[in-house]
Amino acid sequence: MPFLQGLNEAQREAVQHVEGPLLVVAGPGSGKTRVLTYRVAYLIATGAAAPDEILAVTFTNKAAQQMVQRLRQLLGPGLSERAWVGTFHATCVQILRRDGPHVGVPHDFAIFDTPDQVQVMREALKALNIDPKRYDPRGVLAACSRWKNELIGPEQAAAEARSVYDRTVARAFERYQQLMREARALDFDDLLVETVRLLREHPAVLEKYQRRFRFILVDEYQDTNHAQYQLVRLLSQAHRNLMVVGDEMQSIYGWRGADIRNILSFERDYPGARVVRLEQNYRSTKTIVEAANRLIRHNTERLDKRLWTHNAAGAPITFCRAEDERGEATFVALQILRGVQEGKRSWDSFVLLYRTHAQSRTFEEAFLAHQIPYRIVAGLRFYERKEIKDILAYLRLIASPGDVVSLRRIVNVPRRGVGETTVERLVAWARQHGVEPGDGAALEAACEAGVFTRPVAQAMRAFAGQLVRWRALAGGTLGEHGLTGLVEQVIKESGYLDMLKQERTEEAQARIENLEELLSLATRWEQEHPEGGLDDFLAHVALMSDVDDYDESARVVTLMTLHSAKGLEFPVVFLVGMEEGILPHARSTFEASDLEEERRLCYVGVTRAKEKLYLTCARSRVMWGQLVANPVSRFVDEMPREAIEDVSETWSRERVEREALSLAQRAGAAARGAASIGPAPQATGRGAADGAGGPAPGWKPGDRVVHDSFGEGTVVAVDPSGRRDAILTVAFEGAGIKRLMASVAPIRRA
Ligand code: ATP
Ligand code: MG
Repeated sequence: MPFLQGLNEAQREAVQHVEGPLLVVAGPGSGKTRVLTYRVAYLIATGAAAPDEILAVTFTNKAAQQMVQRLRQLLGPGLSERAWVGTFHATCVQILRRDGPHVGVPHDFAIFDTPDQVQVMREALKALNIDPKRYDPRGVLAACSRWKNELIGPEQAAAEARSVYDRTVARAFERYQQLMREARALDFDDLLVETVRLLREHPAVLEKYQRRFRFILVDEYQDTNHAQYQLVRLLSQAHRNLMVVGDEMQSIYGWRGADIRNILSFERDYPGARVVRLEQNYRSTKTIVEAANRLIRHNTERLDKRLWTHNAAGAPITFCRAEDERGEATFVALQILRGVQEGKRSWDSFVLLYRTHAQSRTFEEAFLAHQIPYRIVAGLRFYERKEIKDILAYLRLIASPGDVVSLRRIVNVPRRGVGETTVERLVAWARQHGVEPGDGAALEAACEAGVFTRPVAQAMRAFAGQLVRWRALAGGTLGEHGLTGLVEQVIKESGYLDMLKQERTEEAQARIENLEELLSLATRWEQEHPEGGLDDFLAHVALMSDVDDYDESARVVTLMTLHSAKGLEFPVVFLVGMEEGILPHARSTFEASDLEEERRLCYVGVTRAKEKLYLTCARSRVMWGQLVANPVSRFVDEMPREAIEDVSETWSRERVEREALSLAQRAGAAARGAASIGPAPQATGRGAADGAGGPAPGWKPGDRVVHDSFGEGTVVAVDPSGRRDAILTVAFEGAGIKRLMASVAPIRRA
């Protein structure tokens, strides 16, 4: 068994365990996932189990792929493919495709994703005469999802409802399920619910799967919800060959129904279970392991475990509190550039972890300015997010009322009862009368002319009035309220913010935070362009958002939320936004248990790092369009002072930018030469434009320019943008680094 040599004693004990329940509880980086994978290989290699008798459950599809790949390395091709490795959802799909009809789930059921679900919920609400303004479909769906995770059906939900809201939602739940059945569809939660029901109600089917999956292994067990817990219990109760691995200190999905008690009570649920604790960390330096230990000691809900490592002490943790959020982003960019420049690291050694997606924006901007290739995992780039695109469409419509695309995008967001045919009628009417359909006055006239049916006309009249007001605000250099005022009014008066607030979901909350970030962006832009108008702002934004996706396989810097970082490891980790109100998140500082979940989230972040950890924050930042000064996160103080090197004093933004700039120049050139993953706009083979677009008329790095408002500067980089134009990155002496479109920017040679 050659692969047993890659394991320590405790790990080997777990891998060689064959029959009966087994719990591996251990801290991050101690090899839990490795042990689980090796045990699958061991069972197969020793003949204790046939490959197709094994069910290994991972938390994500990506993790499943990695496990299969690893198994292939250990076992060679042929055998590993026959073991079933997948997420809970994928497993349930398999079972229901075969045996769903026993509980009324057709073989060919469809799986509905979120937009489909919202559609069905809308219908359900309509059928019951429930006002979707008061009971937002997404909010109702979130409530239903919580019930389903607890295996609570519509009847029980109705019986247990205590408030009018809950009772109404329970009624919607019942109707929703009925409509889903009629559509022969299941949503993600249903997959679990129906599988559990199938196994509970049909002993013969249950027995079949108990025989089929004679060995069951579950990774990240601390984040299972009740439905998943029951599923595992049912499948394993006959043979009890169940191995679960997890770390209760890394439980971070409480808000999604994950129940930490599942792992804490494993020994009680499966009497006689063997428990293996792993204490040696193989991932991180001593400094990082010790910092993580000290941090998590501040939580009260925990099993007593220690984690140590033979690894070297390694570099100290670097802490930097920059003056503002852009200083923070530049600092991060510089560290990355240095790492690459010194030849020690490649782009993909680095990961940036933040609490919410909205935080990515400032870093994206810094990375673009400094030509650092990056990608965002499990999330869209800032400007691709729906709510940002929507509000920008409003702004575009205000700037140019003839923009029919923008009009179509937002005329019914939030809902004003305007369908596609109505929009077409409006557009035709406007064309006929030689007016612009997005012009407030023209819209009012259209209302008078009877273009809309009566209930729609009312909503449209209000909308027309808003457009008139907004356009007045946006005139010239944006008047006294400025850009921020305009954006804020659009977000609020349009009803967009209320629409999100009513959803009462985590997702809506994230969207609201993104809008806050848009406001902050507007505020900053305004400070820098006191003379700028709405058109200029939109042009700036268009430039920022006109960035193609990178090749997924490219070696680039990764940005993601702490939640998506589970189970992963990277040589260098930046934990950014280490401030009270961000991490811990503002909503979590009230309840002790929420605060503990935030600390676990931070712990997950810290323990992703193999060699080097950075903690960064800003003295002040623009949030929700306002300048705020958050204290440094308490989590920083909870890590050992002696392990942290504080560089805040040494770094001023000006200096950092200058240094970053010269590094960007060299690193960018090196990266382009080496792997053709240069800066964003040129990175992605836009066919002929890639390279063939060539350097735009005459500009090259090193050229001196004069800009009408920014003054003198030096061209740092020239990126063909694909439209026979170029985006110039210019370092201005006074105004810092700007990206300009060569053809339209007011620039000339110095
Ligand atoms: P997490 O809690 O973050 O999911 P984990 O406990 O699952 O962590 P693994 O990802 O399995 O930890 O292992 C962490 C790293 O340590 C991996 O790179 C793994 O290959 C390595 N490792 C684990 N055990 C050993 C060992 N005995 N010898 C060498 N490397 C090991
Ligand atoms: Mg793991």
